[in-house]
Amino acid sequence: MPDTRIEVLTRNGIFMTELKGRLLNEVFSAGSSILFWKKNLNYILKSASGIIGALVPFSLILAKLEKRPLTLNLATTNICNAKCIFCAYRYLTLPKGFMCDGIFKKAVKDFIAVGGGRIDFTPNTGEPLLDPKLLERIRYCRNFPEIRKIEFTTNGILLHKIDNQALIRSGVNEIIISIGGINRESYCRVVGVDKFEEVILGITNLYRANKECGKPVKITVSLRTDQELKNIKAEAVFKKILKIANISYIYNYHSWGGKIRAEDLRGPMRFNDPKQRQYPCCKLYGGLTVYWNGDVTVCGCSDVNSTSELMLGNITDNSLIDLWRGGKLRNIRRDFRNGIFPDVCRVCTAQPSVKIYRRFDFLSEIFRQ
Ligand code: SF4
Ligand code: SF4
Repeated sequence: MPDTRIEVLTRNGIFMTELKGRLLNEVFSAGSSILFWKKNLNYILKSASGIIGALVPFSLILAKLEKRPLTLNLATTNICNAKCIFCAYRYLTLPKGFMCDGIFKKAVKDFIAVGGGRIDFTPNTGEPLLDPKLLERIRYCRNFPEIRKIEFTTNGILLHKIDNQALIRSGVNEIIISIGGINRESYCRVVGVDKFEEVILGITNLYRANKECGKPVKITVSLRTDQELKNIKAEAVFKKILKIANISYIYNYHSWGGKIRAEDLRGPMRFNDPKQRQYPCCKLYGGLTVYWNGDVTVCGCSDVNSTSELMLGNITDNSLIDLWRGGKLRNIRRDFRNGIFPDVCRVCTAQPSVKIYRRFDFLSEIFRQ
């Protein structure tokens, strides 16, 4: 049994160092602004709850996580209608397609059988609104009380074409709209397609529909701009969106297992600063991603071609829980702890640490049953 007092003090020290590093990093990219403080206050509060989480032995948290996945990512398509400069979509070699109903229902039922949790329809590459069955699939998942949260991230290009009331009423809990800039020029530079006006129209329609329905869905507009925040505050569209939407931003990116290079990024966009790996990557403990063809990976961000050592098998031949508890993933976790990394992880600039599961919002789900 570790000395809990020392553990909490150490955790506190790590937290303060990380916080300082993060804030400096953010100020460097974004400058100090209301958006900066809104985003980082949220981060500070969530991370501070990790100090309380340090009272729980970490080995117990990991043992609970190894029992069942908290999240099921359903990448129901890997087709996209954009060409973002920070994305590995252009390097996709995996055939493109849409998930069939058989694979979709098997994955959901396997997940429910072990307690369910959160379903995320965000593919690692691909646009979820291109899946013509997306709304039907969200409604299907919503029928099961074991599915406690449903969410997805979209590029918003198709939002103006779909029935926004139907989307809001589908049972989805959270939608993040990722947009590449707050004027047409910067949007085109980052997203590679000329769809800025359509996206802004779609965002406006979606917020209106959400308001009319009593705001059941948390909606956030997340900027991936190549301009600094301080330079876009005067933009007319920014002021308009700020009045109706929650706005967040990202300046730090990952390299998709080395596929994206620093010179692909523009302006203040930059790679995450990979930390010394004291802990395994959180992806190995958080959940599984099922691709449209049924392939299952433990990393829903970098493993776009489903060719890495992180591929566990296909859902048609295995149950989710067998893949989660099986020898292959157990060995990957063990090797990670011993400093032996799969090739895709060795060059990964994301490497989110498993210690995020000390946060209170995760602990309540981890110890749910
Ligand atoms: S980041 Fe998303 S929207 Fe952009 S190209 Fe990649 S998959 Fe498409
Ligand atoms: S280190 Fe990177 S590539 Fe490896 S599992 Fe984590 S996020 Fe995925």
